[in-house]
Amino acid sequence: MRTGRLDPAARSRAIDTLARTSAATPLDILVVGGGVTGAGVALDAATRGLRVGIVDAGDWASGTSSKSSKLVHGGLRYLEMLDFALVAEALRERDLLLTTLAPHLVRPVSFVFPLDSPVADRAYIGSGMTLYDAMAIRPGTRRAMPLHRHLGPRGLRSRFPGLRTEHGGIEYGDAQVDDARLTHTLIRTAVAHGAVAANHAPVTGYLHASESTDGAAGGSATPSNSDGESGSDGSGTGRASGGDTGRASGADSSAGPASCTEDPAGRGTGRPIVGVRARDELTAEEFTIHARHTVLATGVWTERQQQLTGSSAGLRVLASKGIHITVPRDRIAADPGLGVITRTETSVLFIIPWGELWLIGTTDTPWRESVSHPLVTAEDIERVLTNANAVLSEPLERTDVVAAYAGLRPLVQPPADSDDSTRVSREHATKEIAPGASAIVGGKLTTYRVMAEDAVDFALRARRPHPRSRTESVPLLGADITEITGPRRERLRAAHGWDDARLDRLLHRYGSLLGELLDLIDERPELAEPLPGAREHLAVEAVYAVRAEGAVHLADVLHRRLRCDLACADRGVEAARAVAALIAPDLGWDAEATAAELQGFTAEVAAQRAAERTRTDAEAVAEYAARSRE
Ligand SMILES: Cc1cc2nc3c(=O)[nH]c(=O)nc-3n(C[C@H](O)[C@H](O)[C@H](O)COP(=O)(O)OP(=O)(O)OC[C@H]3O[C@@H](n4cnc5c(N)ncnc54)[C@H](O)[C@@H]3O)c2cc1C
Repeated sequence: MRTGRLDPAARSRAIDTLARTSAATPLDILVVGGGVTGAGVALDAATRGLRVGIVDAGDWASGTSSKSSKLVHGGLRYLEMLDFALVAEALRERDLLLTTLAPHLVRPVSFVFPLDSPVADRAYIGSGMTLYDAMAIRPGTRRAMPLHRHLGPRGLRSRFPGLRTEHGGIEYGDAQVDDARLTHTLIRTAVAHGAVAANHAPVTGYLHASESTDGAAGGSATPSNSDGESGSDGSGTGRASGGDTGRASGADSSAGPASCTEDPAGRGTGRPIVGVRARDELTAEEFTIHARHTVLATGVWTERQQQLTGSSAGLRVLASKGIHITVPRDRIAADPGLGVITRTETSVLFIIPWGELWLIGTTDTPWRESVSHPLVTAEDIERVLTNANAVLSEPLERTDVVAAYAGLRPLVQPPADSDDSTRVSREHATKEIAPGASAIVGGKLTTYRVMAEDAVDFALRARRPHPRSRTESVPLLGADITEITGPRRERLRAAHGWDDARLDRLLHRYGSLLGELLDLIDERPELAEPLPGAREHLAVEAVYAVRAEGAVHLADVLHRRLRCDLACADRGVEAARAVAALIAPDLGWDAEATAAELQGFTAEVAAQRAAERTRTDAEAVAEYAARSRE
């Protein structure tokens, strides 16, 4: 297995490899979209021995997959919607992630459900919890989470003094994860198994087989080998010697292969798709990628991508906005590792422990603006505060809010014209767009693995037999160490002056990959120092984000690797200068490029925060656009 290291040179090599694919030497599967779904598809396909590529228009997880509630859960709410299959599947995935696939990243968390009435509510919620526990039973395996338990008013007050309660509650266990970290760890694991991955490389058009000549056309992918061994990382196979593919500056469509036609304007008619046209955002070079099958895992962007393919077939996807706020941990008194779940008028509200903060959300409102920039409004924040204050003994104020973020749920739209996203199931759907291309949409972060398996099975459906999914037994990178004890822990504490909390936090972010950060610190001991402006992180984490985790911009590091988007009151503006100085050499930034990055990052944060002072989505979008132009 390879290291899965995503540094700038690896990204550049990946783009070269993708650009060298041709009609004669296509990838087996190309994944468009590097959220958790696409990352899962890339890993599933790579571990089946397929030759796989994945690209994202922005950073890994820059869409919805960094803006969720970060719960790995069955979803009690779906029990109420009688969606038993979804709950059972999600609980199974939760336990698999907790015990086998990503025990370093996915951690247990407990919740209390405060009751509205002493008898009826206790019986109703209690029976739901019993079902939830029962659905998590796996014959022959130990329970990953403890059974639920009933708490009387006094018991609940002692576990969660910050909660207003008359009737007690019920406590149960679930799990949580840094969603962006899960996603880029999936990408790294896919690369370690042979996938070729490039972020900041949007797909701008689709390649169609010319009806008469292209033998590569067709709707099913063929594995490069079928023995279950990992496929190529692209360094040694499938390079075209002729001039039918390659990278070119600008949008010169003549760089495309002779046997294909491009259809960037979407005028086609569902003809077979044999690849895509993409752009390297760092160099502005255009290139083509050939693949036997292209999987769109583009979440709320799916309809736009389907249009670009020129096919009239496809999925309809509803975007529903959900926001979260963070507040300091000491604003709500509770035992460590314990959160709250409570019902709201349209959704459920979680108050989730998140390090030194509480993560509180969410909302569920239709989003009718551009899907590229979901924004939080003042009204959203008030709604979350009101819902939280309905159960808290000491009300939270607007001034308690550290940060806020908005995400868009990609919900497969029902056939009716309904715009009411709360009635749409979170289950996923896979659909053929045209021969050689399909889309997978919906589901949840928790169920990314089963979605991925379905998507790859769908891509391979015309080929029987085809290699089966193996991801149930493929741990993610770093999963082999979740704890450091004894003399090793003492040595690390003594060598770097880290306390147990710091060490545990590092372990839960990196697992056994922590060794790679320690190697960097050995070379440059000053990297063991906390980052100014984001002191819960070490300088080495910013450097590692660029050298191994695929970050190429300040926001990639500060928002999706260090999570200053939700944990820093200034969203990382103060830390940006120090981070820029640390990563500039690896990214080849001179003084001018560094200043431009800093300016762009600061302006983006300012525009988002200005939008948070408006009342409606439309006003927020207008304010954001005006600030972005400044
Ligand atoms: C508020 C909220 C809370 C949630 N909470 C939970 C939770 O607690 N637990 C849970 O299990 N699930 C949760 N979910 C659901 C979960 O977050 C989503 O189902 C999941 O993140 C969707 O992932 P995705 O990969 O399908 O989409 P995305 O993460 O949006 O990925 C799509 C990707 O496609 C890329 N893309 C778009 N166009 C192009 C192009 N032209 N070329 C290349 N790439 C392109 C985008 O850049 C993006 O990265 C929540 C969702 C929301 C909104």
